[in-house]
Amino acid sequence: MTCTKCHAPLHDCQSCNGGRASGIGGRLTCSACNNTGAVCRSHGGHWK
Ligand SMILES: [Zn+2]
Ligand SMILES: [Zn+2]
Repeated sequence: MTCTKCHAPLHDCQSCNGGRASGIGGRLTCSACNNTGAVCRSHGGHWK
């Protein structure tokens, strides 16, 4: 998976442990990665 903006490899989101941390009901709600579990070093979770 790469960033759609800069095509750099995405890193696991630190806020939700790469999407492995789940909220109530097993639903991931992370504003840092926009629920993708991955972030770009330059663009954060707004790469989608
Ligand atoms: Zn990027
Ligand atoms: Zn996250």
